[in-house]
Amino acid sequence: MLDAEFFRRWMTVTAASVDREAERLTALDSPIGDADHGTNLQRGFTAVRAALEKEPPATPGAVLTLSGRLLISSVGGASGPLYGTLLRRTGKALGAATEVSREQLAEALRTGVDAVRQLGGAAPGDKTMIDALVPAADALGDSFAAARAAAEEGAVATTPLRARKGRASYLGERSIGHQDPGATSSALLIAGLADASGP
Ligand code: ADP
Ligand code: MG
Ligand code: MG
Repeated sequence: MLDAEFFRRWMTVTAASVDREAERLTALDSPIGDADHGTNLQRGFTAVRAALEKEPPATPGAVLTLSGRLLISSVGGASGPLYGTLLRRTGKALGAATEVSREQLAEALRTGVDAVRQLGGAAPGDKTMIDALVPAADALGDSFAAARAAAEEGAVATTPLRARKGRASYLGERSIGHQDPGATSSALLIAGLADASGP
């Protein structure tokens, strides 16, 4: 079972990998965006880490809803409201339970991903974070490792796609040949989940 401590670890591990990969995320956002994705997320996860240290929420759901709220207020750009919605809606779906199973988390994550799809209007294949999140949520029913692999594959598979949503879509054909920054950061988020679950 996964407790609030596990969810705090998920957020902290993700904050560390966002720090490590910030330059790469911003570099990916340079040819097909406005070169701010790494700095946007770094600002957000720094705020999340600080808040979770200061006042650790008692339930998995509360860890995610607090984190989502902070991402909405601190990340900005397109990804702030989208990631904020993902975590808030996933957290809300977990309810007030003090421990949840991986299967329950998989179900909640699907709810969160659906909310992101509704907010951003992106479908799989549109070259967005959805391309990493949808396969990850599906694979999480099997294992953390399967979710990590599915998210990474989904992110890599955005390269040959033409963007249909977000800033990259303004480039039309010229968005082809570049990996989507948001799908890449979503793979980091899911990798953080696998890391938090242990070696
Ligand atoms: P901005 O594009 O406003 O500068 P970011 O650079 O932080 O915001 O985030 C860009 C990422 O957000 C993209 O790589 C893409 O994955 C994701 N994104 C943008 N628009 C959408 C959307 N409508 N639905 C889902 N994801 C989106
Ligand atoms: Mg950007
Ligand atoms: Mg921007």
